[in-house]
Amino acid sequence: MIRFVLATGNRHKVDEFAAILAPCRVDAMPAGVELPPEGEESFAANALGKAEALARAAADDPALLAGLGLAPDEKVLFLADDSGLEVEALGWAPGVTSARYGGVDGPGADRANYERLLGEMSGLAGPLARRARFVCSVVGVAPDLSRCAAAGHWWGAIAEAPRGEGGFGYDPVFVPDGSSLTVAEWPQEAKDRASHRALAGRALIEILQREGLLDGQGRREA
Ligand code: IMP
Repeated sequence: MIRFVLATGNRHKVDEFAAILAPCRVDAMPAGVELPPEGEESFAANALGKAEALARAAADDPALLAGLGLAPDEKVLFLADDSGLEVEALGWAPGVTSARYGGVDGPGADRANYERLLGEMSGLAGPLARRARFVCSVVGVAPDLSRCAAAGHWWGAIAEAPRGEGGFGYDPVFVPDGSSLTVAEWPQEAKDRASHRALAGRALIEILQREGLLDGQGRREA
């Protein structure tokens, strides 16, 4: 048995990973754990920094995981991710600065981000010129600090204008390959199956299965 504890304060992310990694159980990290700020080196470095910080906090204070009700034979993997949008014509920007690209913090940030993006791309016509991908890096760190990493890339194009009410972030302007709709026009369950997080999560599950850490859990159809 393995239990994932996700290094995030974002409940939405916990729910998304719980759907992706089911039937394995995913818990939010306990309150009070301090995570390092995200840097601009890479998605993978940011994910590793967060997962390691949580693993070290749990090693320093064994009571930290008491609330999870772990069974004696249950293994724990501390998990963290970092994700963002990369646009080929912009030299793969906004990348690791995706969350703050529009210069606004808090409410209104998502809209400011995609409005800046659409502005930067105003002279670019057609899906090839507007090629983009969502990227997710996911890192698992075990209590002994051994680790494994995986990534998911979800390819598509940037729409000319925002459409749809669902999702978050750049969803209103991202049209995945094979679809004519933006992700904000997709049902959440469809996004959960296809997204960069889903691809990274499935890649991680494959690695854990190969290493014999899942005991048959987490098997799913491709
Ligand atoms: P995070 O640091 O992984 O939470 O994500 C950084 C930023 O990337 C978010 O604030 C969004 O702007 C963008 N992003 C990541 N994943 C998605 C997604 O699934 N849809 C839309 N935007 C996303």
